[in-house]
Amino acid sequence: MRHPATKRSAARPNRPSPEEARKNAENVSTPGASLSYAPATARHIMQLQRTIGNRAVQRMFTSHTGTSRLIQREIPEGIKKDDNVFYKDGMKEAEGRALMQRITTQDKSALDGLSGDELMMDYYKRAPSRIFSQEWGLGLDRTDAGGDVVIISGGKTGVSWGPYLEHLIPLAHSHPYEKSRQIKDNFVLFDQISGDDGEQKMMQRLLIFPSAGDVEFSAYQGVADHTVFTPYSVLTHPQSGKKAIANPGHFDGAPPLSFTILNAVQDTDNPKHYLCTLIARERDTEFWRKDGVLADLTKGPQSTLYF
Ligand SMILES: [Zn+2]
Repeated sequence: MRHPATKRSAARPNRPSPEEARKNAENVSTPGASLSYAPATARHIMQLQRTIGNRAVQRMFTSHTGTSRLIQREIPEGIKKDDNVFYKDGMKEAEGRALMQRITTQDKSALDGLSGDELMMDYYKRAPSRIFSQEWGLGLDRTDAGGDVVIISGGKTGVSWGPYLEHLIPLAHSHPYEKSRQIKDNFVLFDQISGDDGEQKMMQRLLIFPSAGDVEFSAYQGVADHTVFTPYSVLTHPQSGKKAIANPGHFDGAPPLSFTILNAVQDTDNPKHYLCTLIARERDTEFWRKDGVLADLTKGPQSTLYF
């Protein structure tokens, strides 16, 4: 995943106190940095409102946008008009997440009913497989916990969130599927990529799990949870209950695999290290969770997660 150009390199606590959050919101000026305090989802904004009160939360948003978006409660037209943004008025978080899952499960009609740039719509209509062979982002209106979501068209290797972060909370992104993303022999045992078995297949882990960069991004953005929708599906052995991860299209009806990156934070001792809790889900059901997952960013494109 690409990152916005502006980053804050200093270590910061994962959950700033309301007082710190308010200060951060008031002091910073660049989008990449100003959003590092921001809560992730509708739920978190509501928690924040309960904790520090509506007016304080409103001040947080007002202070860096210049206007009260909490009152406006609309994703700005400028964002909706962006070539890479697709939306449907009234599309909320749950529908947006379901849409992301339809994309990764290669539903060719996934974009039907959405509004977006005509040329881009045409581009996908001509060859729907283009929808699945690139990344997508899911962004929630930053000013309204129960507000609308939009999806953002990304590239083969990432979503450029930069232009949208002032107005949108990055809830999720999807990973594409193409030849280079195929799991060898069509499936791999989950234990062999999750650190739970002695013999680990590191290349397969790189393919299937969120990237170390995904964890870094979540930490920079201060999103308490960020979902990575993968194109793979989850198989369950009928006797042992053991899980395996499979390429799409080989096992009809198998539930799709997604991950949640929880509470990602930069390691105070090493700025190239990030820590998080990672959850694996088959459709909406959690089947694996690990605390203290280390994203080691020191190895460039081979940077991976350690459990
Ligand atoms: Zn990613």
